[in-house]
Amino acid sequence: MHDPPESFYFLQCPTVTNYMRMSKYIFVTGGVTSSLGKGIIAASLAKLLQSRGLSVTIQKFDPYINVDPGTLNPYEHGECYVTEDGAETDLDLGHYERFLNINTSQANNVTTGRIYQTVINREREGDYLGKTVQVVPHITDEIKRRMMLLGEKGNYDIVITEIGGTVGDIESLPFIEAVRQMQWELPDEDCLVVHLTLIPYLRAAKELKTKPTQQSVKLLSANGVHPDVLICRTEHKLTPDLRRKVALFCNVKEEGVIEAIDAPTIYEVPLLMLREKLDKIVLKKLRINNDREPDLEKWKSFLDKVKHPSKKVNIGLIGKYIELQDAYKSILESFIHAGAMNECKVQVINIHSENITEGNVEETLAGLDGLLVAPGFGHRGVEGKIVAVKYARQHRMPFFGICLGMQMAAIEFARNVLGMKDAESTEMNPNTSVPVIDMMEDQKKVTAKGGTMRLGAYPCEIREGSLAYEIYGTTQISERHRHRWEFNNHYLKKFEDAGMIATGMNPETGLVEIMEYTKHPFFIGVQFHPELKSTVENPHPIFVHFIKAAKLFSEKGKQADEKASAASVN
Ligand code: GLN
Repeated sequence: MHDPPESFYFLQCPTVTNYMRMSKYIFVTGGVTSSLGKGIIAASLAKLLQSRGLSVTIQKFDPYINVDPGTLNPYEHGECYVTEDGAETDLDLGHYERFLNINTSQANNVTTGRIYQTVINREREGDYLGKTVQVVPHITDEIKRRMMLLGEKGNYDIVITEIGGTVGDIESLPFIEAVRQMQWELPDEDCLVVHLTLIPYLRAAKELKTKPTQQSVKLLSANGVHPDVLICRTEHKLTPDLRRKVALFCNVKEEGVIEAIDAPTIYEVPLLMLREKLDKIVLKKLRINNDREPDLEKWKSFLDKVKHPSKKVNIGLIGKYIELQDAYKSILESFIHAGAMNECKVQVINIHSENITEGNVEETLAGLDGLLVAPGFGHRGVEGKIVAVKYARQHRMPFFGICLGMQMAAIEFARNVLGMKDAESTEMNPNTSVPVIDMMEDQKKVTAKGGTMRLGAYPCEIREGSLAYEIYGTTQISERHRHRWEFNNHYLKKFEDAGMIATGMNPETGLVEIMEYTKHPFFIGVQFHPELKSTVENPHPIFVHFIKAAKLFSEKGKQADEKASAASVN
């Protein structure tokens, strides 16, 4: 293959200045290792800027080739986060929404797969007019186009782009190259690069080491990108000497070296960044005149409640991916939000659904104050979930089932209350004679896997006088979905006659969205995913009420224990 002539690039490559540019752009890259918390740093920076009255959004560019994370096993990449518009996205978008209390969308998460898919489709349409299609400029142009997309409409003062992966990875290169071009093409005051790195502590030498950071910045510079701010993850405080050394060796201004010390909770990070004056440094470089004091009062009072709870409840999280905490990220964060609302620490006890049997359920679940049966796919562990639901129902323990959790509650009820011993979901047994949970009609024809479930926000109408109504305080809600199976309305009458009622329904299709058991103090299952809408500012009401019910359950349990021990003394 021949290289195209040099002039080709200048003829073909639309420079960023050709686009209507309304926003300023911040890029966040990561070095040394993965898992340094780029998502939290990006979200914390966004929070600080937002708290000064600026409008900010964040997007994540992921270097893997899957078109989106929807087809990834949670063991690979943690939870798949679903946005209002039904995009299956990276879990960092959950952090962005929880921190900023804004909605993100399909445009906020882009992968290498999606970039290539667009470019290849365009090539098939003949859009490249017979030219050789290459990584530079065609792939990088498409990356840049998407980097600027959210900024084009003038809705945001600042668009933050988090680049997934670690500098030096082969697959990150086109993204880093796109950042280089943006840094070159944009006016200085419209672009800022933040590099997150690690300063490890060597216990034997009792020293913090700057070499990995130096190497990482060198690697970034070799790719032509020069960081304006270095955020250094560290277990120990950085001394002024060390900061100076990092600044000098990495060619960054001293004020641009920011310490990111390990924090007990991610919700502390915006305040740590505030203390390090990250917001001021960013505003100065972007030449934004803003002398407002950041308004973080609500955030601080939330954090105060997280750090100083007056009570504790033990909640069993029954799932099959519990080895990997990221698989249930949004649920765990929702518990933190709901705990703060109740001034209560939510101690989550992870219980592997595969390990629960009729024989051990008593000893496994006794002592808990509430039970959440998690979402999931496939048959592994479902019988354990059903046994757990039965325990919660019979022991009047607060129960909350999400998606598959609600479906399992329906099956448990059919089997053990309605006497339909063979009740099943056709997901687990396609030939069952009692398909209490069945696939939606329009799903039966679908064979493609990516982006084909019932995804995103759907309206739901709530029955007045129900527990759901008490929780939401309204009859009209909207919640996000990600599933293929549904409650089979053929069985609804039998369920309702026995006290398991559908209190939330899709107004257009009649699909059951919420079920609750009326002969129980708190037993609710939802077909949607409420955990995706819980934020620091707006904790999700079902989680809030669930924790309230768990608190009550724990107090009653303790009262009963006290009574029993008083009785035994007498
Ligand atoms: N596997 C079930 C379905 O597709 C539940 C999905 C889920 O829990 N998100 O309907």
